[in-house]
Amino acid sequence: MRIDVMTLFPEMCERVLGESILGRAQNKGVIEVHCHQIRDYTLNKQKQTDDYPYGGGRGMVMYAQPIADCFRAVCEQAGERPYLVYMSPQGAVLTQQKAKELSEKPNLCVLCGHYEGVDERVLDAFVDEEISVGDYVLTGGELPALVLIDCVSRMIPGVLAEDVCFEEESHYDGLLEYPQYTRPAEWEGRPIPDILLSGHHKNIAAWRRREAIRRTAQKRPDMIANAPLTEEERAWAEALIQGNHPVNA
Ligand code: SAM
Repeated sequence: MRIDVMTLFPEMCERVLGESILGRAQNKGVIEVHCHQIRDYTLNKQKQTDDYPYGGGRGMVMYAQPIADCFRAVCEQAGERPYLVYMSPQGAVLTQQKAKELSEKPNLCVLCGHYEGVDERVLDAFVDEEISVGDYVLTGGELPALVLIDCVSRMIPGVLAEDVCFEEESHYDGLLEYPQYTRPAEWEGRPIPDILLSGHHKNIAAWRRREAIRRTAQKRPDMIANAPLTEEERAWAEALIQGNHPVNA
């Protein structure tokens, strides 16, 4: 997958995306990331990227022209028009499901705003979707773009060692993940659950399923209504939420 980022801070994005799993995925050629400096597309001598808002008010607004020309250059370099996402506190809040959907696009381009945001006309002209990382406001779209790209990339085949790595994690199937432990088997008087030492894969899988439901009910009861549960599991989860812990809990 090819991912383009349009930003005033390309070095910031390149540094983060060049580390760890995403850095290795780029080295392997599984993903290709290109960060573009919007300022390079300005037409004024001062290379100014923003101006005062029409109608008055505080802050500065990013010009439409450099963003439009930057996107046109990205389209040309990519050989086709990528799906364009604008990181915005006004977009729908990012979910695992949305990230999975985006991971299936051949090309993705992410626009990072700054200051008061971006001239609305360039959003109207080019943006396919606005995505937010939460109901709060940050100074720029770079951190949200990095969150989005990280989340999308790890679901692209070949980025993680195996697909099950993300398929078993929190949110993929509407539940939180079961608790995880590593060596030693006892740490500061706290042993791991015996079942994990039993070597009985079927029983371990059943325990993990039960723990995933238990912690979802306890930490995120709002997720239980839409979680894919059997009738029996749902009754147990609802009892946990109401505090009526059944005997076999
Ligand atoms: N004036 C805008 C508003 O009230 O909707 C907020 C602008 S914000 C200070 C500057 C930029 O940061 C935005 O253009 C956007 O790209 C990014 N940004 C801020 N908060 C964000 C969030 N929660 N999710 C995604 N992007 C965000």
